[in-house]
Amino acid sequence: MKDEPKIIDTGIDWDEDDLDERDSTDMIVLHHTGDTDMDASAKQIHGWHLGQGWAGIGYHFVVRKKGTIEEGRPEWAVGSHAFGENDHSIGIHVCGAFNSAQPTDAQIESCAHLVAYLCEKYDIPIDREHIVGHREVNDDTTCPGDNLFAKLDLIVSKAAWYANQDASESDTDGKEATWEKDMEAIKKEMDGAKRYNTLDEIPEWATPTIEKMIANGILKGSGKTDENGKPADIDFSKDMLRMAVYNDRAGLYDR
Ligand SMILES: [Zn+2]
Repeated sequence: MKDEPKIIDTGIDWDEDDLDERDSTDMIVLHHTGDTDMDASAKQIHGWHLGQGWAGIGYHFVVRKKGTIEEGRPEWAVGSHAFGENDHSIGIHVCGAFNSAQPTDAQIESCAHLVAYLCEKYDIPIDREHIVGHREVNDDTTCPGDNLFAKLDLIVSKAAWYANQDASESDTDGKEATWEKDMEAIKKEMDGAKRYNTLDEIPEWATPTIEKMIANGILKGSGKTDENGKPADIDFSKDMLRMAVYNDRAGLYDR
C-alpha cells in the first residue's frame, strides 16, 4: 500500500447504541448524490438522513468534489446505503449528480486510494465483483449515475495499482511512480506484443514494404488468405515491421 488516505473526521456525534457492528466486510458500494449536482459534506448528509428518521448518515465515507475524504458513519457499523447488502458492505458517497455531471479527477483518485486502503484492511479482492455501483445490487436505482458507473473499472484498476505500491517506492530517476506512468509502460509493452496478420491491419508506413515482400514471394504465410487473396497470417510484430522497412530501404527486397 502506497500510504494511507487522509480521512477527515468532521465531528459527527453518534449515539453508539443506535449502531450495530458489522460482522463481515467483503463489498464496497459506490453512490452518488442523486439528481442535484452538489458538493454536500458528511455533516450535511448526516442532517438529511437524521431527517429521514435514520440513526444518521448512512454512508461510511463521503468523497467531496476536491477529493477530500470525510468520515461518515463509523467504519465498523452497519451502514444504510444499499438495501439487503448493508450487513457486509461499506458505502462510499461520491458528491455529484453523475447521470449528468462528471466525477472530478480528484474524486476518482481519492476513491481509488480509499478502495485500495479498505480492500487491504478487510482482505477484499480488488475486482468488480467486490467493488460495485449501487445499481448493481439494487435494481430500482440508477445510482451512482452513468458517468461514475462508467469509471468503476478505472477506479478498481487504479486501486489495484495503489495496493501494489510500496510506501517508499519511486522510479530510478527519483520521480514518484504514478498509475499513469505505469499504464503507459503496460500499453507500450502490449503495443510491442501486438501481432499484425493482414495487410489491412498493418500500419500505413509499412504497407508498401509488406506488399513488396508478398509480391516477391518473400512473405508467404501458411497459405491462409484474406478476401483479397493476400496472406492472412503475416504474424509480424511492430518491431519486425520496422526491421522490414529498414531492409526495404537498404534495397534487400528489390530483386
Ligand atoms: Zn446509492
